[in-house]
Amino acid sequence: MIKQQKNLNTPLERKGYQIRPIIKQPESVAIIGGGIAAACVAYALTQKNIKVTLYCKDKEIAQGASSNHVGALFPLIHQQVDEISLFYQQAFWHALKCYKNLHSRGFAFSHDWCGLLEISYKTALEKRQNIFEQTSPWPKELITSVNAEQASLLAGIKLEHGGLFMPSAGWIAPGELVQQLFSAAQQTQQLSIKNQVNITALNQQDDKSWQLTTSKGIINEKVVVFCGGAESIKLNIIDELPLSSVRGQITNMATNEQIKNLSTVICHKGYLTPAHQQQHCIGATFEKDSFDIVATNAGDQYNLTMLEKCLPKLISWREQDVTSSKARLRCMTPDHLPVVGAMPDIAKHKSSYAHLAKDKNWRYHQPAPVIKNLYLLTGLGARGLCTAPLLADILTADLTGGEYPVGKQELFNLSPNRFVIRDIIRRKYL
Ligand SMILES: Cc1cc2nc3c(=O)[nH]c(=O)nc-3n(C[C@H](O)[C@H](O)[C@H](O)COP(=O)(O)OP(=O)(O)OC[C@H]3O[C@@H](n4cnc5c(N)ncnc54)[C@H](O)[C@@H]3O)c2cc1C
Repeated sequence: MIKQQKNLNTPLERKGYQIRPIIKQPESVAIIGGGIAAACVAYALTQKNIKVTLYCKDKEIAQGASSNHVGALFPLIHQQVDEISLFYQQAFWHALKCYKNLHSRGFAFSHDWCGLLEISYKTALEKRQNIFEQTSPWPKELITSVNAEQASLLAGIKLEHGGLFMPSAGWIAPGELVQQLFSAAQQTQQLSIKNQVNITALNQQDDKSWQLTTSKGIINEKVVVFCGGAESIKLNIIDELPLSSVRGQITNMATNEQIKNLSTVICHKGYLTPAHQQQHCIGATFEKDSFDIVATNAGDQYNLTMLEKCLPKLISWREQDVTSSKARLRCMTPDHLPVVGAMPDIAKHKSSYAHLAKDKNWRYHQPAPVIKNLYLLTGLGARGLCTAPLLADILTADLTGGEYPVGKQELFNLSPNRFVIRDIIRRKYL
């Protein structure tokens, strides 16, 4: 695991654009959101005695991407040990610890740490598994290779293929988890939730506080954290970042004799979860740049066909076995890592760091210019359950001057200004 690093903000140690601004711990913070990102931030900040007001546009919390019946908790692990996989590995252990702790404190949510099998259903994946066996790049507690017989035992049903098994992974009911994180935050008496408040514009005042234009009138807040997911990537200021929406539809299927004993999550091109309340979740579709959250028959058909294509004859479901379906939006970034930290002042970045276009190793030691009192935790893509707790702790360190739980390169890999720095280096603005 990546070790904690101290004194991250010591000048001369780092390039200026990697230096994160430190603010005096705010007394209160406003969060725009209502999903797993907002819940983890509210939970982390209230544990530090910071007052939080949550503004959520929906009637109830957890109505966006974090509202699925079931979601899988597992890291993104590549064959080689690279920066992305290392981040997801650390985030995964962090999330597991956070959720287990929450549950043990009496904030119960439906879940099962039943493991997850990435099934080698095609030749390319069998090859990947072979290389994996030869090189053993990751610890066995995280991921291990299993043959078809072992996979069948783990899954509780007969499988034709082996795969890579993650013994500590599993599934969670995301809506319940979000609810319980907010309940734990409310127990501190520091959280106030305002539903049906849609934030439609952000305007900075002369004293660097924020005026929020909302469906309930104007609201003034000192420090704002944006956790609005894909639904609000067109909000002013936020729209300067390269965030995009990818629609996804999942389909819930009635259990039956063939599949009721499934005892681990199975990932193929999509995924299939064990029965929860007599239903299995299958999915999901990926439709770029769509903001449509109406579920369709075509989406269900796609999910059924994908399952049948990847795991033929595993289960003979038909359309009449569909119990419900849901379409929601994933908030994506171009490099598949989420974003956390202060909102960069992009115009000032372009002028302050223009020299990077000539010399990418140029050292400039002034902290990165930011838009004061505006922070983000978003771009969670398809793994929000895995990454949100670690990201929330990073954001909390930003807001309190505390120790960061990740190293400095990782911090930059997650920072919202990485996109503009990379574009300057690629000479996009010349
Ligand atoms: C089909 C599908 C399947 C998925 N499966 C998995 C999975 O198995 N495992 C996994 O880890 N992840 C999965 N994901 C991804 C995961 O759901 C997301 O990463 C995560 O839910 C994102 O959380 P969030 O809080 O950023 O956004 P959301 O959950 O979308 O929450 C955004 C919140 O912000 C509020 N909001 C937005 N704009 C405003 C505004 N202007 N004013 C006020 N409030 C606002 C909304 O009301 C909402 O409550 C899946 C996603 C989809 C779509």
